[in-house]
Amino acid sequence: MSLTLTVDGDRWRAHLRKVAGEHPGLVPVAKGNGYGFTLGRLARKAQWLGVDTLAIGTYDEIGHVAQRFDGSLLVLTPWRPFGAALDLDPAEDPALARRLIHTVGRVEDLHALLTRQPDARFVLERMTSMQRHGLSARGLWAAARALAEHPRARLEGIALHLPLAQGSHLSEVTRLMNDVVAAGLDTTTVWVSHLTDDELTALRARYADYTIRPRIGTSLWLGDRDALRVTATVLDVHDLERGDAFGYRARTAPKSGHLLVVSGGTAHGIGLEAPTGESSIKARAATLARGGLDAVGFVRSPFSIDGKQRLFAEPPHMQASMLFLPSGAHVPQVGDLVDVRVRYTATAFDRVVIT
Ligand SMILES: *Cc1c(COP(=O)(O)O)cnc(C)c1O
Repeated sequence: MSLTLTVDGDRWRAHLRKVAGEHPGLVPVAKGNGYGFTLGRLARKAQWLGVDTLAIGTYDEIGHVAQRFDGSLLVLTPWRPFGAALDLDPAEDPALARRLIHTVGRVEDLHALLTRQPDARFVLERMTSMQRHGLSARGLWAAARALAEHPRARLEGIALHLPLAQGSHLSEVTRLMNDVVAAGLDTTTVWVSHLTDDELTALRARYADYTIRPRIGTSLWLGDRDALRVTATVLDVHDLERGDAFGYRARTAPKSGHLLVVSGGTAHGIGLEAPTGESSIKARAATLARGGLDAVGFVRSPFSIDGKQRLFAEPPHMQASMLFLPSGAHVPQVGDLVDVRVRYTATAFDRVVIT
C-alpha cells in the first residue's frame, strides 16, 4: 500500500498563480525529488504557469523536464569540464543545447565551456557568503576580459545564491551588486535566490536598470501547506500483551496495547525522529520517572493518530513501519488513513494524487 501525497488541486494552482503574479520574472526551481511532487509534474506546472525559464538542479535532471517544459532550462549546479555536463553534445542535439543556460563559477570553466560551445548561454555566479560556488569580484573582472575573446558567447546574467535569511541580505546584496556593476559586464539581469519580497522590492528600487529574477522552489511548490496532505494506510493491527515479542529484533512490549503496521518506511525517506526534544538530563529524568514509553527506548514516529504523533515500536522497515499504540488509545482499522509529517524534499511518495 501507498504513502500518498494528496494535493488540493484548485488550492495549489491558485497559490502557484499567486506567487507567480507577485514575482515578476519568476524562475521556478525543480530539483531533486521535485519537492515531493516529482520533477516531471513540476515541469508541466511550470509550462502551465507560462514562465520562460525553469531552473533545475543538475544536468542529470534534464531528461525529466525537457519534454514537459519547452522554455529555457537554467542548470543551478555549475558547469564543469567533466561529468554529466559533457554528456550533452551540442552538435547532436542543437535544439536542446540552445535551451540550456549554464551556471559558470570559475574563469577556467568559462574558457572551457566556450571552447566547446562558442555560442553557449550562461550566467556567471558571484560567490556569496554561502561560500558554495562562484566568482570573486576579481573573478568577475577576469570573466569580463575573457568574454572579449568570445564574441558569440551569450551572457544571460549574474547569479547570486544567498544563504537562508538570518536577518537582512540587503547589505550583502548591495555589495555584490556593486561588484557586478563595476565589472562592466554586458548584462543587466541578476538571478537571485532566497531574497524576501521586501528585499526584492528594495533591490529593484535601488538598481532600477537591472532585471531581478527570483529563483524560487520551496515557497512556490510548498508555500501553501494546507493544500497538501500526506497519508499512510493502516495495513494490520495486532493486540499486544505486556511481554509479547514482536518485530525484527523480537523486542517485547513494555505494556499492553496494539501493534500497528502502516505503509511508509525507509524507502520513502521515513526516518527516526529525535526522541521528544526534551534533551536535558532533567527532562529525561522526569520522563523516566513518569514511566513514559520513550524512556524504554521507543522513539517518536512521524505518523499521527487522533492528532498525536505515535511511537515507533521499532525502527522503520523498508516500506512499512510498526507503531506501538498503548491501550486506551483509539485503535484505527485496517484500511484507515493515518496522517504523516514528512520533509517533502526528502520523501519519495508512492503516489501523488491531485484532486
Ligand atoms: C535549491 C535552490 C534554490 C531554490 O531554493 P528554495 O529554498 O527551495 O526556494 C534557489 N537557488 C539555488 C541556487 C538553489 O540551489
